[in-house]
Amino acid sequence: MPEQPHTPKHPIVLADANNFYASCEAVFHPEVAGKPLVVLSNNDGCVVSRSAEAKALGIANGTPWFTIRQEAAYDQVIARSSNYELYGSLSHRMMSIMSRFLPGQEIYSIDECFLHSPWDTERTRLIAADMRRTVLQGVGIPVSIGIAPTKTLAKITNHWAKRHPSSHGITTWSDLSRNDHGTAVLASTEIDDIWGIGRRLAKRLRGLGIRQAAQLRDQDPAAMRRLFSVQLERTILELRGVPCIAEDNDATGGKRDSQILCSRMFGTPIRGEEGLRQAASVYAQYACRRLQRQHSLCTRVSVFCASSPFNAHDQYSSACGSILLQDPSDDPVIISAAARQALHGRITPSVRYVRAGVMLTGLVDADAYDTLPTLGARTDPGLSEAFEQVARRFGPAHVGIGYAGIRGDGRNNGDTGASWTMRREMLSARCTTRWDEMPVVRAD
Ligand SMILES: [Mg+2]
Repeated sequence: MPEQPHTPKHPIVLADANNFYASCEAVFHPEVAGKPLVVLSNNDGCVVSRSAEAKALGIANGTPWFTIRQEAAYDQVIARSSNYELYGSLSHRMMSIMSRFLPGQEIYSIDECFLHSPWDTERTRLIAADMRRTVLQGVGIPVSIGIAPTKTLAKITNHWAKRHPSSHGITTWSDLSRNDHGTAVLASTEIDDIWGIGRRLAKRLRGLGIRQAAQLRDQDPAAMRRLFSVQLERTILELRGVPCIAEDNDATGGKRDSQILCSRMFGTPIRGEEGLRQAASVYAQYACRRLQRQHSLCTRVSVFCASSPFNAHDQYSSACGSILLQDPSDDPVIISAAARQALHGRITPSVRYVRAGVMLTGLVDADAYDTLPTLGARTDPGLSEAFEQVARRFGPAHVGIGYAGIRGDGRNNGDTGASWTMRREMLSARCTTRWDEMPVVRAD
């Protein structure tokens, strides 16, 4: 039987920012508040966040920007390149304010966290309302709050709060379930929208005639565990108000990736080995940071690059290579050198490459692997620590090995200063992390 770490008397609070990236864009630019605004993905490719007004125009997430640019201009839609530095900094402020109101914060994503209330629902509601006001006042970001006996129900409750302005951003499961144990709300929740149910599982469940959360809740948990998994059994119990998804204070979210991939499209194509080696080195260092964050070491470094499959003039061409490390490592010096080496001699000089990626595989647990210092598995144990500290304080790409440390002369030039780095033509100011981009207030 799944354990029951919380009694339903102590509700779970899920706080989730509304249209987070779009809301961040309005924090230092009040003139865009209330207007249709979209935030675009890397290289200004697709819509990844929309203000309420842009949603009302029917712009869907994932829409390629070039397909709607013309129409968007008629509707006076404002577009912004994604400014992850600004979003990360505002997220940090928002999370730290919320952690002062309730204990047991679990940061689930950049704009979402669970909190564990030691109080009953009514008192929790009052605290959450205060927390919401403080975040709005202190950071300028609106958050929606769902309060429920389990995480799965807190997600559903939060979703309801977002769609119903009458809730003023806060809803409790006891409000939603007062008359019918929540059957009406669960009957209107598609199984795809249940936390932890992916597309493939949803398809299998629909094959059994289970389409809405209410139907799933009424299945026999033990039978569903035998048919599917213990995770699905837990989801069913959580829908019934029995908490069984345990607290997860691990920074990796309890999951470790079995491989780490960092791949990007270039802002402009690269010809020749020199530029590709630079890109491979930079991506290897990004991948390395993720490796270190999940406390793993890698044994193999692979690099690939490819030309555009859509270009009618060039024939499609790709290259890849990989290097087996002597010892498992998380050292950025070793890993970026291996990435540069992996491509050596594999590049066709005439091809215009548009993307590249670095993949780290053969991951092992860093704690389980103790190397003797004399074997030279690390160049300098303090070096990665120093990189990490600088990156945390000043943002990525301020220091790094080779090209990863070079900066351009303006933010429109991307982060490394090389001509191939990301295109971000509509980037807003990074008001909270760059001295030279701080907003100026004039009092006349
Ligand atoms: Mg959100």
